[in-house]
Amino acid sequence: MQCRTHIAFGIAASTALVHTGDLKVLLTTIAGATIGSIISDLDSYNSEISQILNKITAIIVATVLVSLGISYIFKIDIIDKIVQYKNAANILIGVLVFLLVSILGSYTKHRTFMHSIPCVLMYFVILSTFLSQSFTLPFVVSMVAHIALDLFNHIGVVLFCPISEKRICFDLCDSDGIVNSILFYVSVFIAAYMVTFVV
Ligand SMILES: [Zn+2]
Repeated sequence: MQCRTHIAFGIAASTALVHTGDLKVLLTTIAGATIGSIISDLDSYNSEISQILNKITAIIVATVLVSLGISYIFKIDIIDKIVQYKNAANILIGVLVFLLVSILGSYTKHRTFMHSIPCVLMYFVILSTFLSQSFTLPFVVSMVAHIALDLFNHIGVVLFCPISEKRICFDLCDSDGIVNSILFYVSVFIAAYMVTFVV
């Protein structure tokens, strides 16, 4: 599926699951869901290190800018909702391990480790050490949603990499065809509906 579809589907699934009327929790959910929905595709340019680093940098810069933008527009600080432990060393180690796994994952073959259940569990453990459940759970839900959508086209994913190399694929639709478009618009509608609970 296209990047925008993964993001919209991840946000729709996460906001529907959290179903909150709290603006801070909603924004934290959207932030976690957005990053979780695209992290798996860091492996899509595994031959070009500059593109990988650009992508990781773009994700970090986008996250910081979105957080600052939200703080400015809504006059609230969502950082205290995202970060669970205020210990600087704890946060620094967590961020470094997160970056290390993401950079190493970028070098793996497309739709193998970065699209696997063991990888989801690894990110869940890493993020849980320094980030709140309000951020971590949407991240994990969106990552699982991304992998689930990728199962439906002809390439499929190595779901249990590195435990098993078996590639699973349902081969039901193209990644940029009519199903992709329908899924995108339905997801946007659901996400918009969930946002109405706080306005
Ligand atoms: Zn993917």
